[in-house]
Amino acid sequence: MSLDRAAVQALDAADPLRPFRDRFALPPGVIYMDGNSLGALPKAARQAVERTVSQEWGAGLIRSWNDAGWMAAPRRVGDKIARLVGAAPGEVVVADSTSVNLFKLAVAALRARPDRRVILTEPGNFPTDLYVAQGVADLLPQAQVRTVPAADIAGALTPDVGLLLLTHSHYKSAHTHDMTALTAAAHDVGALALWDLSHSAGAIPVDLTAAGADLAVGCGYKFLNGGPGAPAFLYVARRHQQTLVSPLMGWLGHAAPFDFADDYRPSDGIERFLCGTPPVLGLAALEAGVDIALEAPADALAHKLKRMTGLFITEVEARCSGHGLALVTPRHGPRGSHVSFAHPEGYRIMQALIARGLIGDFREPDILRFGLTPLYLGYEDVWRAAGLIAEVLDTGAWRDQPHRIAGRVT
Ligand SMILES: *Cc1c(COP(=O)(O)O)cnc(C)c1O
Repeated sequence: MSLDRAAVQALDAADPLRPFRDRFALPPGVIYMDGNSLGALPKAARQAVERTVSQEWGAGLIRSWNDAGWMAAPRRVGDKIARLVGAAPGEVVVADSTSVNLFKLAVAALRARPDRRVILTEPGNFPTDLYVAQGVADLLPQAQVRTVPAADIAGALTPDVGLLLLTHSHYKSAHTHDMTALTAAAHDVGALALWDLSHSAGAIPVDLTAAGADLAVGCGYKFLNGGPGAPAFLYVARRHQQTLVSPLMGWLGHAAPFDFADDYRPSDGIERFLCGTPPVLGLAALEAGVDIALEAPADALAHKLKRMTGLFITEVEARCSGHGLALVTPRHGPRGSHVSFAHPEGYRIMQALIARGLIGDFREPDILRFGLTPLYLGYEDVWRAAGLIAEVLDTGAWRDQPHRIAGRVT
């Protein structure tokens, strides 16, 4: 049943996360529903980058590697992210991109299971996950990628599987896997499980320890609000840290980088999955985003997200019926932090919405995707967004939008 404006305003007034909105610099007149692709700018990130550039770089110069904690940042920010995803200190480190981290961990995992040559994943997984898996299979003798639909994964875990590689919450549908059950099923056949948390970290509850997870990677610029191209993170459960070795053996993964020894000897801990020099400016922005996420009570976040996504689905379906929008996101059951609808004219509809200040995104071939971020969106925003979608569909205003141009960022 559709709510009226007073009812959603009452929800906002009672929302314990309401104050977080002021921590973000959002342009006026915009309802930002694309935090699943690029999180909004935390005001503290602007200050952190300014400080890092002017004081630490400008004045401190090379001394800042020690004095400003630059060298320690990958581990320090990793330990903070660990708290968001149910990992222990020393199990997460910030490094490289999600794609590169997938590569490092997938190769390390398969090398640790030399009698098992299959990487099992699902068709329609995020492209980089599939491509990296294909690249790893090309690299390692006899390795191969096998894809089976999400519902059949447990049954496809045969003894030749060395690595189960899944995205926890799907980038298009927001369908969310049962990490605990699938990890246990992978372990039953002797495989390791590698979870991509790009659409989970900072968005939905994740407990890597409780799930018995082996390996994970995730993105810094989505729900962690680390800024465009923010460095990513990786997780290796403590019990695997002595046995898994990164195939990208760079000097910062060495046990003693500043010994400048000729031969590689991996660090004892999670640092062995570092490769080269940390991206200090990106880390400064990411740390500010992560600090905000750490301040938000996890149960309040989960509650608001569930309620907001439910409200959005109800309002859009109630106000847009008859226009051919089809819900792609699970109506019941575990879902992530965005809501997707399919529509054959999805691209032009999204362009018309963006022109009206409602920023979501479009995913091929026909998906309108709306990210719902409890830290900087309120119930009234979601309710107004549904009204804008109805307006664009009722008036047919999307017909004025040009068709899509291949190759552009959508
Ligand atoms: C966004 C996303 C990535 C991004 O990888 P990059 O290396 O940062 O480009 C990877 N995997 C998934 C599932 C994602 O959603």
